[in-house]
Amino acid sequence: MKDFSKYNTKELWNNDLKHNMHPFTDFSSFKKEGSLIMAESEGAYVFDTDGRKYLDGIAGLWCVNIGYGNEEMGQAMLDQTRRIPYYSSFGHLTTPPAVELSTKLASLAPKSLSHVFYGTGGSMSNDTAVRMVHFYFNRIGKPNKKQIITRTDGYHGSTYLSMTLTGVEYDHIGFDLAPDLVHRVSAPNVYRRPAGMTVPEYCDFLVNEVEQKILSIGPENVAMFVAEPIAGAGGVLVPPEGYHQRVAAVCKKYGVFILSDEVVTAFGRLGEMFSSEKIFGFTPDIITCAKGLTSGYIPLSANMISDEIYDVISVPQAEGASFTHGFTYSGHPVSCAVGLKNIEIMERMDLCGHVREVGKYFENQLIEKLSNLPLVGDVRGSHFMMCIESVANKETKELLDPNIAIGNRIADKCQAVGLLVRPLAHKNILSPPLTLSVAEVDFIVSTLHKAIIDVQDDLVKEGLW
Ligand code: PMP
Repeated sequence: MKDFSKYNTKELWNNDLKHNMHPFTDFSSFKKEGSLIMAESEGAYVFDTDGRKYLDGIAGLWCVNIGYGNEEMGQAMLDQTRRIPYYSSFGHLTTPPAVELSTKLASLAPKSLSHVFYGTGGSMSNDTAVRMVHFYFNRIGKPNKKQIITRTDGYHGSTYLSMTLTGVEYDHIGFDLAPDLVHRVSAPNVYRRPAGMTVPEYCDFLVNEVEQKILSIGPENVAMFVAEPIAGAGGVLVPPEGYHQRVAAVCKKYGVFILSDEVVTAFGRLGEMFSSEKIFGFTPDIITCAKGLTSGYIPLSANMISDEIYDVISVPQAEGASFTHGFTYSGHPVSCAVGLKNIEIMERMDLCGHVREVGKYFENQLIEKLSNLPLVGDVRGSHFMMCIESVANKETKELLDPNIAIGNRIADKCQAVGLLVRPLAHKNILSPPLTLSVAEVDFIVSTLHKAIIDVQDDLVKEGLW
C-alpha cells in the first residue's frame, strides 16, 4: 500500500509556487492554479500527493516507455552507483557502462551510424549535431557550408541553438533566435494541406520545397536538414508516404546531411528501436535520441553518428586541433547503466512487438471511435504517438476561439476521472507508456470519447458552439 500521509500537499504547493520555476509555463494561470504534484507511480499509473490515481496517457513527457516503478531500473542505478557513480569520459577516459551501451546502440541503429556521443537531453544532442557538422565542414575545407534547414512545427529543444532549429512559432514569442543560421520549409501537415491538393501532390510539393530551399541558399552553403520522423510537439504530423525517402534523395544530391530527431520516436514508440530506416526507409547521417533511451528514469541522450562524419572528425591533425565539445555528464556511467538495463527490459518483454500489436490497436480504436464526433477534426498518428485535433467546423476545419482553450477543457475532463492527456492549444496529444494492456487502451478511448462529448455539451450550454 502506498502511504500518502507523508505528503503535505498544501506546503509543497505553496513552496513550489514560491521557489520552483517551471519550464514551458503560462504564469498567468500557474499563479492562480499552482501545480498538480505527482508523488508515486506504478506501471502505467501515477499518483498525486493526495493519493489520486491517473492513467498516464503522456508517459511523463513521451518518456516512460517501460512504465513506472520498475525495480530492476532502480537496482541498476544502485549497483552502478556502488561501483563508480561518476567518471568523466573526456579525452582517453571511459567507464564500462558507457562502452557497453555504445556497443549496444551501434547494433540497434542503422549500420552506418556506429558512433555514439552522449548528452543529457534532446536539446543538448541537437546542439551537438550542429556543432559536429560545422566542425566537419570546417575540417574538409568547406567553411561556408553551415546553413541548416528545419521545418515549421518541428520541435528540437529549447537551448538557444535547438530552439532556433525549432519551428513552432508559438515557442519563439518573446524570445530571440540565433541569427543567420536556420531556414524553414513547411511541416508535412496532411490534414491542413492546401485545399484541392491530393496527398501525393502534397508530397511532391513538400519535396520540391526542400529542393528549392537548398537551391535558393546555394547547396555549397547548406550543411544539414533537420526533421523528426513524425513531428511530435508540433502536433503529431505523420508525413505522406515516401516523404522522408524522397527528401533524403534530394539532400544526398546536394551533399546535405540529414539529422533525424528521434528523441520521441526511438525506443519503441512506433514499434521499432529506431524508426528512420526501419519504418520510414531512409538512412540519416545523425540520429538524436533521448527520453525512451532510459524511459526517463535518468537523464541521458545520444547522437548516433555516421562513419562518414566520424572519420573526418577523428582524423588526427598535425596542428593538434582537437574536438573541443562535450559535457561533464557525457557518458555518465549511472545513466548508461540504466540505458542498458532499459534496453534489456524492452528486448526481454518484446516491447516493440507489443507496440506493433497493442499500439496499432490503440491507433485504430482512437480513429474508429473518435473521428466521427462533431468536435473532432482529425485523429492522427501512429501506434503510441497520437493526436486529436478539435475544430469548430468539420467541413471548413475552422478552429474554435483560442480563448475557449479546447485542449485544456478536454484534458481537464479526462483528469477528473483519472486519465492524463496533454493539451496543446486545440490539440490533445497521447503518448502513453508502451506497456499498456488492451483494457487500458479501452479505458483511454472510452474516457476520451465521453470527455469530448461532455465538452461539446458544455460549449453548447455556454453558447460557444
Ligand atoms: N527533440 C524532440 C523531437 C523533442 O520532442 C524534444 C522534447 N520534447 C526535444 C528534442 C528536446 O529534448 P529535451 O527536452 O530533453 O532537451
